[in-house]
Amino acid sequence: MKKVIVTGILGQDGSNMCEYLLRNEDYKVYGMIRRAANPNFVNCHSFLQDENFQLVYGDLTDETSLDKLVKEIQPDYFINFAANSFVGISWDMPLHVFDVNASGVIRCLEAIKKYQPKCRFYSAGSSEEFGDVAYSPQDMNHPMRPRSPYGASKCAARHAVKVYRDSYEMYAVHGTLFNHEGTKRGQEFVTRKITKGVARIHKALKNNESFKPIQLGNIYSKRDWSDSRDFVKGVWLMLNQPQPKDYLLASGETHTIKEFVEKAFKYADISGSWAEVEGDELATKFYNNSEEGETLIKINKDFYRPAEVELLLGDPSEALKEIGWKTEISFDNLVKSMVQFDIKNCET
Ligand code: GDP
Repeated sequence: MKKVIVTGILGQDGSNMCEYLLRNEDYKVYGMIRRAANPNFVNCHSFLQDENFQLVYGDLTDETSLDKLVKEIQPDYFINFAANSFVGISWDMPLHVFDVNASGVIRCLEAIKKYQPKCRFYSAGSSEEFGDVAYSPQDMNHPMRPRSPYGASKCAARHAVKVYRDSYEMYAVHGTLFNHEGTKRGQEFVTRKITKGVARIHKALKNNESFKPIQLGNIYSKRDWSDSRDFVKGVWLMLNQPQPKDYLLASGETHTIKEFVEKAFKYADISGSWAEVEGDELATKFYNNSEEGETLIKINKDFYRPAEVELLLGDPSEALKEIGWKTEISFDNLVKSMVQFDIKNCET
Protein backbone atom coordinates (compact mmCIF):
# COMPACT_ATOMS: atom_id res chain seq x y z
CA MET A 1 0.00 0.00 0.00
CA LYS A 2 1.34 3.44 -0.95
CA LYS A 3 2.06 5.90 1.83
CA VAL A 4 1.46 9.65 2.13
CA ILE A 5 2.64 12.02 4.84
CA VAL A 6 0.40 15.07 5.19
CA THR A 7 1.45 17.92 7.48
CA GLY A 8 -0.77 20.64 8.91
CA ILE A 9 -3.72 18.29 9.33
CA LEU A 10 -5.42 20.32 12.06
CA GLY A 11 -5.80 23.16 9.57
CA GLN A 12 -8.15 23.60 6.64
CA ASP A 13 -6.08 22.25 3.73
CA GLY A 14 -4.32 19.42 5.58
CA SER A 15 -7.62 18.05 6.88
CA ASN A 16 -9.34 18.42 3.49
CA MET A 17 -6.37 16.62 1.86
CA CYS A 18 -6.61 13.70 4.32
CA GLU A 19 -10.36 13.46 3.72
CA TYR A 20 -9.85 13.51 -0.05
CA LEU A 21 -7.13 10.83 -0.02
CA LEU A 22 -8.94 8.50 2.37
CA ARG A 23 -12.14 8.75 0.31
CA ASN A 24 -10.61 8.43 -3.15
CA GLU A 25 -7.34 6.50 -2.88
CA ASP A 26 -6.34 3.27 -1.24
CA TYR A 27 -3.33 4.81 0.51
CA LYS A 28 -2.09 4.85 4.06
CA VAL A 29 -2.19 8.46 5.27
CA TYR A 30 0.13 9.66 8.03
CA GLY A 31 -1.10 12.97 9.43
CA MET A 32 1.59 14.97 11.17
CA ILE A 33 0.85 17.27 14.10
CA ARG A 34 3.01 19.18 16.56
CA ARG A 35 2.75 18.09 20.14
CA ALA A 36 0.46 20.37 22.13
CA ALA A 37 -1.34 20.02 25.44
CA ASN A 38 -4.76 20.47 23.84
CA PRO A 39 -4.66 20.03 20.07
CA ASN A 40 -7.89 21.02 18.33
CA PHE A 41 -9.14 18.14 16.16
CA VAL A 42 -12.36 19.86 15.10
CA ASN A 43 -11.43 19.60 11.39
CA CYS A 44 -10.40 15.94 11.63
CA HIS A 45 -13.37 14.06 13.06
CA SER A 46 -14.31 12.43 9.76
CA PHE A 47 -11.02 10.54 9.43
CA LEU A 48 -9.27 10.23 12.80
CA GLN A 49 -10.65 6.72 13.30
CA ASP A 50 -10.14 5.60 9.68
CA GLU A 51 -8.10 2.38 9.61
CA ASN A 52 -5.89 3.84 6.87
CA PHE A 53 -5.08 6.94 8.91
CA GLN A 54 -2.34 7.32 11.49
CA LEU A 55 -1.40 10.32 13.58
CA VAL A 56 2.34 11.05 13.82
CA TYR A 57 4.29 13.75 15.64
CA GLY A 58 6.72 16.14 14.03
CA ASP A 59 7.57 19.80 13.66
CA LEU A 60 8.79 21.76 10.64
CA THR A 61 11.24 23.63 12.89
CA ASP A 62 12.84 20.35 14.05
CA GLU A 63 14.75 18.50 11.34
CA THR A 64 15.33 15.49 13.61
CA SER A 65 11.60 14.78 13.67
CA LEU A 66 11.25 15.13 9.87
CA ASP A 67 14.29 12.93 9.21
CA LYS A 68 12.88 10.28 11.53
CA LEU A 69 9.43 10.28 9.90
CA VAL A 70 10.75 10.05 6.34
CA LYS A 71 13.32 7.39 7.27
CA GLU A 72 10.83 5.21 9.12
CA ILE A 73 7.70 5.64 6.96
CA GLN A 74 9.45 5.70 3.53
CA PRO A 75 6.56 7.72 2.07
CA ASP A 76 5.63 7.84 -1.63
CA TYR A 77 4.28 11.39 -1.20
CA PHE A 78 4.97 14.17 1.31
CA ILE A 79 2.34 16.94 1.23
CA ASN A 80 3.29 19.95 3.31
CA PHE A 81 0.40 22.11 4.46
CA ALA A 82 1.98 23.04 7.79
CA ALA A 83 2.65 26.76 7.93
CA ASN A 84 2.35 29.92 9.88
CA SER A 85 -0.49 30.82 7.55
CA PHE A 86 -1.94 34.15 8.63
CA VAL A 87 -0.61 37.17 6.72
CA GLY A 88 -1.83 39.65 9.34
CA ILE A 89 0.31 38.26 12.16
CA SER A 90 3.42 37.79 10.02
CA TRP A 91 4.68 41.32 10.75
CA ASP A 92 4.66 40.46 14.47
CA MET A 93 6.70 37.25 14.18
CA PRO A 94 8.63 37.41 10.89
CA LEU A 95 11.44 35.11 11.99
CA HIS A 96 9.10 32.37 13.10
CA VAL A 97 7.20 32.72 9.82
CA PHE A 98 10.44 32.24 7.88
CA ASP A 99 11.60 29.38 10.07
CA VAL A 100 8.39 27.42 9.48
CA ASN A 101 7.36 28.48 5.95
CA ALA A 102 10.76 28.72 4.25
CA SER A 103 13.40 26.83 6.29
CA GLY A 104 10.73 24.23 7.14
CA VAL A 105 10.34 23.42 3.45
CA ILE A 106 14.10 22.97 3.11
CA ARG A 107 14.09 20.65 6.13
CA CYS A 108 11.41 18.50 4.42
CA LEU A 109 13.36 18.48 1.15
CA GLU A 110 16.56 17.52 2.95
CA ALA A 111 14.85 14.64 4.79
CA ILE A 112 13.45 13.36 1.47
CA LYS A 113 16.78 13.78 -0.33
CA LYS A 114 18.60 11.81 2.37
CA TYR A 115 16.14 9.03 3.16
CA GLN A 116 13.60 8.58 0.34
CA PRO A 117 14.61 10.53 -2.79
CA LYS A 118 11.83 9.10 -4.95
CA CYS A 119 9.17 10.55 -2.64
CA ARG A 120 7.07 13.24 -4.37
CA PHE A 121 6.92 16.52 -2.44
CA TYR A 122 4.28 19.27 -2.44
CA SER A 123 4.98 22.74 -1.09
CA ALA A 124 2.01 25.01 -0.36
CA GLY A 125 2.55 28.37 -2.02
CA SER A 126 0.35 31.44 -2.08
CA SER A 127 -0.89 34.27 -4.27
CA GLU A 128 0.74 36.51 -1.64
CA GLU A 129 3.94 35.75 -3.60
CA PHE A 130 2.65 38.22 -6.23
CA GLY A 131 1.96 41.03 -3.73
CA ASP A 132 1.61 44.45 -5.36
CA VAL A 133 0.64 42.98 -8.66
CA ALA A 134 2.13 44.20 -11.94
CA TYR A 135 -0.68 42.91 -14.16
CA SER A 136 -3.96 41.00 -14.02
CA PRO A 137 -4.78 38.22 -14.13
CA GLN A 138 -1.61 36.87 -12.53
CA ASP A 139 -0.01 33.75 -14.02
CA MET A 140 3.14 31.82 -13.14
CA ASN A 141 5.29 34.29 -15.11
CA HIS A 142 4.20 37.15 -12.86
CA PRO A 143 7.16 38.50 -10.83
CA MET A 144 7.33 37.77 -7.13
CA ARG A 145 6.61 41.10 -5.37
CA PRO A 146 5.54 40.13 -1.83
CA ARG A 147 4.05 42.71 0.55
CA SER A 148 4.35 40.86 3.86
CA PRO A 149 6.83 38.63 5.71
CA TYR A 150 4.37 35.80 4.96
CA GLY A 151 4.48 36.51 1.20
CA ALA A 152 8.29 36.74 1.28
CA SER A 153 8.54 33.39 3.09
CA LYS A 154 6.41 31.70 0.42
CA CYS A 155 8.61 33.18 -2.34
CA ALA A 156 11.65 31.70 -0.57
CA ALA A 157 9.93 28.31 -0.42
CA ARG A 158 9.12 28.46 -4.14
CA HIS A 159 12.76 29.19 -4.97
CA ALA A 160 13.94 26.40 -2.67
CA VAL A 161 11.66 23.83 -4.31
CA LYS A 162 12.96 24.79 -7.77
CA VAL A 163 16.56 24.58 -6.61
CA TYR A 164 16.08 21.08 -5.16
CA ARG A 165 14.16 19.95 -8.24
CA ASP A 166 16.90 21.20 -10.57
CA SER A 167 19.84 20.12 -8.43
CA TYR A 168 18.77 16.66 -7.33
CA GLU A 169 16.14 15.62 -9.91
CA MET A 170 13.53 15.39 -7.18
CA TYR A 171 9.79 15.38 -7.91
CA ALA A 172 9.14 18.53 -5.88
CA VAL A 173 6.41 21.02 -6.79
CA HIS A 174 5.19 24.29 -5.34
CA GLY A 175 1.56 25.21 -5.95
CA THR A 176 0.76 28.91 -6.00
CA LEU A 177 -2.74 28.81 -4.57
CA PHE A 178 -5.01 31.83 -4.48
CA ASN A 179 -7.26 32.35 -1.44
CA HIS A 180 -9.28 29.30 -0.56
CA GLU A 181 -11.85 29.08 2.16
CA GLY A 182 -14.61 26.89 3.57
CA THR A 183 -16.20 25.68 6.76
CA LYS A 184 -12.80 24.60 8.13
CA ARG A 185 -11.19 28.02 7.62
CA GLY A 186 -9.56 29.62 10.67
CA GLN A 187 -11.65 32.42 12.14
CA GLU A 188 -8.96 35.10 11.85
CA PHE A 189 -9.30 35.03 8.03
CA VAL A 190 -11.73 37.62 6.74
CA THR A 191 -14.24 35.23 5.12
CA ARG A 192 -14.72 33.12 8.24
CA LYS A 193 -14.68 36.17 10.49
CA ILE A 194 -17.57 37.53 8.41
CA THR A 195 -19.62 34.30 8.22
CA LYS A 196 -19.19 33.60 11.95
CA GLY A 197 -20.15 37.20 12.70
CA VAL A 198 -23.20 36.98 10.44
CA ALA A 199 -24.28 33.80 12.25
CA ARG A 200 -23.91 35.53 15.65
CA ILE A 201 -25.97 38.52 14.46
CA HIS A 202 -28.56 36.24 12.86
CA LYS A 203 -29.07 34.50 16.20
CA ALA A 204 -29.29 37.79 18.11
CA LEU A 205 -31.85 39.26 15.71
CA LYS A 206 -33.94 36.09 15.91
CA ASN A 207 -33.97 36.25 19.70
CA ASN A 208 -34.50 40.02 19.83
CA GLU A 209 -31.18 40.49 21.56
CA SER A 210 -28.69 43.32 21.13
CA PHE A 211 -25.40 42.59 19.37
CA LYS A 212 -22.09 44.17 18.52
CA PRO A 213 -21.23 44.82 14.84
CA ILE A 214 -18.52 42.87 13.04
CA GLN A 215 -15.37 45.00 12.91
CA LEU A 216 -13.34 44.86 9.71
CA GLY A 217 -10.31 46.58 8.20
CA ASN A 218 -9.89 47.30 4.49
CA ILE A 219 -13.09 46.21 2.73
CA TYR A 220 -11.93 47.44 -0.68
CA SER A 221 -9.18 44.90 -1.30
CA LYS A 222 -10.05 42.23 -3.86
CA ARG A 223 -9.46 38.52 -3.59
CA ASP A 224 -9.78 35.51 -5.87
CA TRP A 225 -11.58 33.08 -3.55
CA SER A 226 -12.26 29.36 -4.09
CA ASP A 227 -13.27 26.41 -1.95
CA SER A 228 -10.35 24.53 -0.35
CA ARG A 229 -11.96 21.19 -1.28
CA ASP A 230 -11.51 22.05 -4.97
CA PHE A 231 -7.87 22.93 -4.35
CA VAL A 232 -6.80 19.70 -2.67
CA LYS A 233 -7.90 17.87 -5.83
CA GLY A 234 -5.62 20.18 -7.83
CA VAL A 235 -2.74 19.49 -5.45
CA TRP A 236 -3.16 15.75 -5.95
CA LEU A 237 -3.18 16.24 -9.74
CA MET A 238 0.03 18.31 -9.52
CA LEU A 239 1.67 15.45 -7.65
CA ASN A 240 0.73 12.85 -10.24
CA GLN A 241 2.09 14.17 -13.52
CA PRO A 242 4.81 12.58 -15.67
CA GLN A 243 7.11 15.57 -14.93
CA PRO A 244 7.16 17.89 -11.92
CA LYS A 245 6.01 21.44 -12.59
CA ASP A 246 4.66 24.33 -10.47
CA TYR A 247 1.06 25.35 -11.12
CA LEU A 248 -1.25 28.16 -10.06
CA LEU A 249 -4.74 27.37 -8.78
CA ALA A 250 -7.40 30.10 -8.77
CA SER A 251 -11.04 30.67 -9.63
CA GLY A 252 -10.30 33.38 -12.22
CA GLU A 253 -12.80 35.77 -10.51
CA THR A 254 -12.12 38.56 -8.06
CA HIS A 255 -14.42 40.12 -5.46
CA THR A 256 -14.06 42.82 -2.81
CA ILE A 257 -14.43 42.09 0.90
CA LYS A 258 -17.45 44.40 0.63
CA GLU A 259 -19.12 42.06 -1.84
CA PHE A 260 -18.41 39.09 0.43
CA VAL A 261 -20.13 40.96 3.28
CA GLU A 262 -23.20 41.71 1.14
CA LYS A 263 -23.57 38.12 -0.01
CA ALA A 264 -23.03 36.71 3.46
CA PHE A 265 -25.84 38.82 4.95
CA LYS A 266 -28.03 38.04 1.95
CA TYR A 267 -27.69 34.29 2.54
CA ALA A 268 -28.64 34.88 6.20
CA ASP A 269 -31.77 36.75 5.02
CA ILE A 270 -30.61 39.98 6.62
CA SER A 271 -31.06 42.99 4.40
CA GLY A 272 -28.51 45.78 4.74
CA SER A 273 -27.12 48.90 3.10
CA TRP A 274 -23.83 50.74 3.16
CA ALA A 275 -23.61 54.26 4.43
CA GLU A 276 -20.52 56.18 3.43
CA VAL A 277 -19.35 59.54 4.61
CA GLU A 278 -17.48 61.10 1.75
CA GLY A 279 -13.75 61.37 2.26
CA ASP A 280 -13.80 59.38 5.48
CA GLU A 281 -13.29 55.74 4.69
CA LEU A 282 -13.47 54.74 8.34
CA ALA A 283 -16.99 56.08 8.66
CA THR A 284 -18.27 53.42 6.26
CA LYS A 285 -20.76 51.11 7.86
CA PHE A 286 -23.22 48.46 6.83
CA TYR A 287 -26.55 48.77 8.60
CA ASN A 288 -29.69 46.72 8.86
CA ASN A 289 -32.56 47.86 6.64
CA SER A 290 -35.04 47.02 9.40
CA GLU A 291 -36.74 49.77 11.45
CA GLU A 292 -34.09 49.50 14.15
CA GLY A 293 -31.34 50.07 11.59
CA GLU A 294 -28.65 48.45 13.73
CA THR A 295 -25.04 48.66 12.52
CA LEU A 296 -23.92 45.28 11.20
CA ILE A 297 -20.38 46.13 10.05
CA LYS A 298 -18.07 48.78 11.43
CA ILE A 299 -14.66 49.68 10.02
CA ASN A 300 -11.81 49.58 12.54
CA LYS A 301 -8.40 50.78 11.42
CA ASP A 302 -6.70 48.33 13.82
CA PHE A 303 -7.44 45.67 11.20
CA TYR A 304 -5.63 47.56 8.45
CA ARG A 305 -2.27 46.07 7.52
CA PRO A 306 1.12 47.85 7.34
CA ALA A 307 1.16 47.02 3.60
CA GLU A 308 -1.82 45.74 1.69
CA VAL A 309 -2.20 43.45 -1.30
CA GLU A 310 -4.96 45.40 -3.05
CA LEU A 311 -5.91 43.00 -5.81
CA LEU A 312 -5.51 39.32 -6.53
CA LEU A 313 -6.88 37.63 -9.62
CA GLY A 314 -5.41 34.39 -10.86
CA ASP A 315 -5.25 32.87 -14.32
CA PRO A 316 -5.75 29.12 -13.84
CA SER A 317 -5.76 28.29 -17.58
CA GLU A 318 -2.42 26.44 -17.51
CA ALA A 319 -3.69 24.05 -14.82
CA LEU A 320 -6.87 23.51 -16.82
CA LYS A 321 -5.01 22.83 -20.06
CA GLU A 322 -2.16 20.73 -18.71
CA ILE A 323 -3.50 18.81 -15.70
CA GLY A 324 -7.24 19.06 -16.31
CA TRP A 325 -8.07 20.97 -13.10
CA LYS A 326 -10.79 23.56 -12.58
CA THR A 327 -12.87 24.89 -9.69
CA GLU A 328 -16.29 23.32 -9.30
CA ILE A 329 -17.69 25.27 -6.34
CA SER A 330 -18.75 28.82 -7.30
CA PHE A 331 -18.13 31.95 -5.22
CA ASP A 332 -21.85 32.16 -4.38
CA ASN A 333 -22.00 28.56 -3.25
CA LEU A 334 -18.86 29.02 -1.17
CA VAL A 335 -20.33 32.01 0.70
CA LYS A 336 -23.70 30.30 1.08
CA SER A 337 -22.24 27.06 2.47
CA MET A 338 -20.07 28.92 4.99
CA VAL A 339 -22.98 31.09 6.19
CA GLN A 340 -25.38 28.16 6.46
CA PHE A 341 -22.81 26.05 8.33
CA ASP A 342 -22.03 28.83 10.81
CA ILE A 343 -25.70 29.65 11.40
CA LYS A 344 -26.44 26.01 12.10
CA ASN A 345 -23.50 25.68 14.49
CA CYS A 346 -24.32 28.94 16.24
CA GLU A 347 -27.78 27.70 17.06
CA THR A 348 -26.86 24.30 18.45
P1 GDP B 1 -5.02 36.94 2.93
O1 GDP B 1 -5.42 37.37 1.57
O2 GDP B 1 -4.26 35.65 2.95
O3 GDP B 1 -4.34 38.00 3.71
O4 GDP B 1 -6.42 36.57 3.66
P2 GDP B 1 -7.30 37.32 4.77
O5 GDP B 1 -8.61 36.64 4.78
O6 GDP B 1 -6.58 37.39 6.08
O7 GDP B 1 -7.44 38.81 4.21
C1 GDP B 1 -8.04 39.10 2.99
C2 GDP B 1 -8.22 40.59 2.84
O8 GDP B 1 -9.21 41.05 3.75
C3 GDP B 1 -6.99 41.45 3.12
O9 GDP B 1 -6.90 42.44 2.12
C4 GDP B 1 -7.29 42.11 4.46
O10 GDP B 1 -6.66 43.38 4.65
C5 GDP B 1 -8.79 42.27 4.33
N1 GDP B 1 -9.46 42.46 5.62
C6 GDP B 1 -10.32 43.47 5.94
N2 GDP B 1 -10.73 43.34 7.20
C7 GDP B 1 -10.13 42.23 7.70
C8 GDP B 1 -10.20 41.60 8.98
O11 GDP B 1 -10.87 42.02 9.89
N3 GDP B 1 -9.46 40.44 9.11
C9 GDP B 1 -8.71 39.94 8.08
N4 GDP B 1 -8.02 38.80 8.24
N5 GDP B 1 -8.62 40.55 6.87
C10 GDP B 1 -9.33 41.67 6.69
